[in-house]
Amino acid sequence: MTVTLEHPALLAGEGLPRFEAITPDQIQEHIPELLSQLETELSGLESRFEAALAEGRPLGWHEVMDPLHRLGERLRWSWGVVGHLNGVCNSPELREAHASQQAAVVAFGQRRGQSQVIYKAVRTLREQGGWDGAQERILAAEVRDMELRGVGLEGEAQAAFNAASQELAELSTRFGNQLLDATSAWTLTLTTADEVEGLPRSLLEQLAQAARQADARRADGGEATAEEGPWLMGLDMPRFGPFLRFSRRRELREKVYRAHVSRASGEEGGNGPLIQRILELRREQARRLGYGNWAEVSLASKMAGSEAEVERLLEDLRVAAYPAAKRELEELRLCAEQAGAPEAADFQPWDVSFWAEARRRELFALDSEALRPWFPLPRVLEGLFGLCDRLFAIQIEAADGQAPVWHPDVRFFRVNDRDTGLPLAAFFLDPYSRPESKRGGAWMDECLVRQVKADGTPVLPVAYLVCNQSPPVGETPSLMTFQEVETLFHEFGHGLHHMLTTVERPQAAGINNVEWDAVELPSQFMENWCYDRATLMGMARHWQTGEPLPEEEFAKLAAARTFMGGSATLRQVHFALTDLRLHSQWHPESGQTPEDLRREVARTTTVLPPIEEDALLCGFGHIFAGGYSAGYYSYKWAEVLSADAFSAFEEVGLDNEELIRATGRKFRDTVLSLGGSRHPAEVFEAFRGRPPSAEALIRHTGLAVKE
Ligand SMILES: [Zn+2]
Repeated sequence: MTVTLEHPALLAGEGLPRFEAITPDQIQEHIPELLSQLETELSGLESRFEAALAEGRPLGWHEVMDPLHRLGERLRWSWGVVGHLNGVCNSPELREAHASQQAAVVAFGQRRGQSQVIYKAVRTLREQGGWDGAQERILAAEVRDMELRGVGLEGEAQAAFNAASQELAELSTRFGNQLLDATSAWTLTLTTADEVEGLPRSLLEQLAQAARQADARRADGGEATAEEGPWLMGLDMPRFGPFLRFSRRRELREKVYRAHVSRASGEEGGNGPLIQRILELRREQARRLGYGNWAEVSLASKMAGSEAEVERLLEDLRVAAYPAAKRELEELRLCAEQAGAPEAADFQPWDVSFWAEARRRELFALDSEALRPWFPLPRVLEGLFGLCDRLFAIQIEAADGQAPVWHPDVRFFRVNDRDTGLPLAAFFLDPYSRPESKRGGAWMDECLVRQVKADGTPVLPVAYLVCNQSPPVGETPSLMTFQEVETLFHEFGHGLHHMLTTVERPQAAGINNVEWDAVELPSQFMENWCYDRATLMGMARHWQTGEPLPEEEFAKLAAARTFMGGSATLRQVHFALTDLRLHSQWHPESGQTPEDLRREVARTTTVLPPIEEDALLCGFGHIFAGGYSAGYYSYKWAEVLSADAFSAFEEVGLDNEELIRATGRKFRDTVLSLGGSRHPAEVFEAFRGRPPSAEALIRHTGLAVKE
């Protein structure tokens, strides 16, 4: 008889997690235990590396990279489950347990990432040479990432680097907080029906709720209601966006707009001084690391090869979008003129959303709610899985009950190769919104990464796919909006990237080691199929009558896709170019302020110039408080790749079944297989037979010159 010592579920480190057995108490108890074990192992590895380096004997992959991976994988597995549960079944206890361990986990990551001995060992390994392409890329990324953390610096330079990193972290937190404070500090109480003219019911409810939270009451002392007010307006997106679209009171739109664009730009608590300091510090950091400027640092780990390459793409898009944006604005102005609105003679930024909404209604009369009955989740899944079978020769089968889950609504599926019948991967699908315990939005995350264990047994990839759509009610299945369908396809694209990889080195399998500006290729690629007539009409069936989606509704969806496409593209170009140039061209002696530079960029990237108090930079959290600095262009970069990849299918003819299947198979064997084992430019060329071109994106956005 053998006695097996039961491992705590949180420390299993492999296999599918037993979610129900992982409790906040376990996290508090076992994460510190795990970290101290890993610390001991890490120190042990360092001593071994040090000894080997001192002896000057060659190192082996299995001696350095495998143990480093196993160490990282144990932390990823355990902390990954904690993060996952924190996102999908949150509770005050779990949140507290997560927060209490986070600093220690981050500190361990830093300790590992800045280890001089590991850095030397990896560099030595790399210099020994003789590695295959994937290994070479894994080593190069490891060296680069450690260097970007300052591991290669010594003495005073390193001290200065660390001090500046610290200051930068503090500045970006302050930037974010001040922006948040400025956003929530501004309110406007609306009290008469006249002041809320045009606002839809959902917004009125939101405004009344905000009023109740602030305890703003009616004149008679009653509580705020959607019907009678008072309504409390604010600058957060859920209130600001719809207000500009729907408010019929132009002077109120103006007031709200001016307040929004000048957020955090005042003397007190303004972000202005922080911007200059952040840019200066980043420039100094870049110099310390041996780069010319911060844009070069950012691009060192991206697919885009140089600033010039990014500039070229943005210019291609700008040239296509500018005349279209100009035309679109003129159409909105005409729309106002026909309605006899005075703003036709003096069109301003606070009029754009309002008239765009009016025109959208006029052109498409698209009611996103009304389409729900045609998109019941089971049918959408059938359509999606059928498409994957057709394109990628995979079969997806329900396997509910074969894996532990964290909520009864969660489903489990297996993915098999259609031709061989062999299992390839599996995924969890957690489709429905649970506002009380689940984070909003949609995402794909790694549960298990494809790899070969030390004893030679393979581990198949498993993905988490999480959405937030309406749950079923009684006998009615979850009925999705078209946007929710697109979101599901998007996340599924990330999932396919993770699951269909054939790379056996986990450091470069699936989405691992894929450059940041290329990682959205498979996800955005899948979205394109929602606009493919055969795919969409094949799956959109009324959940009760089985009727197909009416032809005119499909036409409206297709037309709405490119509505205001020029303006939207130009806006992204404006942001991306401002971001790039601030991090490449601007410096304290450049003779202009960051704001001057932004206004210079605006001259060719806006149709309505920014108004006097427009302080875009003070609210540009993406680049000053988030991780997008000199990387905002990535949104468009990845869209170029995904649109161009989809155009390979358009070229063979979307109704040419045989060639569609062949092209899909090729996509699977390149983009979905190769993960981070090769440079994304090579992966793309392996699929497309040539470098990417912006032509397809320009065409899909409706910006191509019509002949
Ligand atoms: Zn994505």
